[in-house]
Amino acid sequence: MGKPQQEPLVDTHCHVDLYPDPRALIRRIEAEHIYAIAVTNAPSVFRQTVALTEGKRYVRPALGLHPQLAAERANELRTMWRHLPETRYVGEVGLDYTTMDQSERAKQRKVFEAILSKCDESADKVLTVHSRRAADDVVNAFGDGFRGTVILHWYSGSRRALEKAVSRGFYFSVNTAMTSSERSLGMLKHVPRELILTETDGPFVTTAHGPAEPKDVASVIDALAQMWQTTEAETRKALYKNFVRLLQSQPEQRDGMAAHTRA
Ligand code: MN
Repeated sequence: MGKPQQEPLVDTHCHVDLYPDPRALIRRIEAEHIYAIAVTNAPSVFRQTVALTEGKRYVRPALGLHPQLAAERANELRTMWRHLPETRYVGEVGLDYTTMDQSERAKQRKVFEAILSKCDESADKVLTVHSRRAADDVVNAFGDGFRGTVILHWYSGSRRALEKAVSRGFYFSVNTAMTSSERSLGMLKHVPRELILTETDGPFVTTAHGPAEPKDVASVIDALAQMWQTTEAETRKALYKNFVRLLQSQPEQRDGMAAHTRA
């Protein structure tokens, strides 16, 4: 008998295609048995990520249209609808109000609402959602009966929007930039543990060693263990359980990743 196996790590938001060597990264993810959602920023690059992740056990491609590209690339929505049946994972999508341009914000909302409406029709999607300075509008955009699973990625919005998101059962994915911010840590105390997931947002988030990689979610686990005053092992187990529950949430629509994960 060997030592008891640890639960796998999970990275629900990683821009695999934007690393200098995506293939090498994917080899490491597979070797380390880390579940990873490979988000993309535009429908026109989705195919590439599908090719990179084809046949992999741990990595899944997500179809996205980043809010900061949404206004200028609204014409890519047609490509998005074409690919939508090919994956259960959608992201990166959302709203970003760092722009003060009201017409750009309006265009972002139009694109995001169109995406949510298509995802609602499919009823089985897992969405990883950006909400910088736009959390209230993002949470409200879902309405009450949205059919799908929502992960708020790198959440930094109001308490009010957070409470609403929690009441709707939205998940919150946490990265190392968040666990090194007092403000983020304070905010995370208000999220039930059952709704917390881990992410890197690599290569945009960096660590002392360079761009964050999926294995760096281990330091997020350390920080959460401290916050929750429990052990790293318990935290890792709880976080994996959250991911498995998320994957199993629409039983009729389980994909391969859901089928081989077990709590
Ligand atoms: Mn991102």
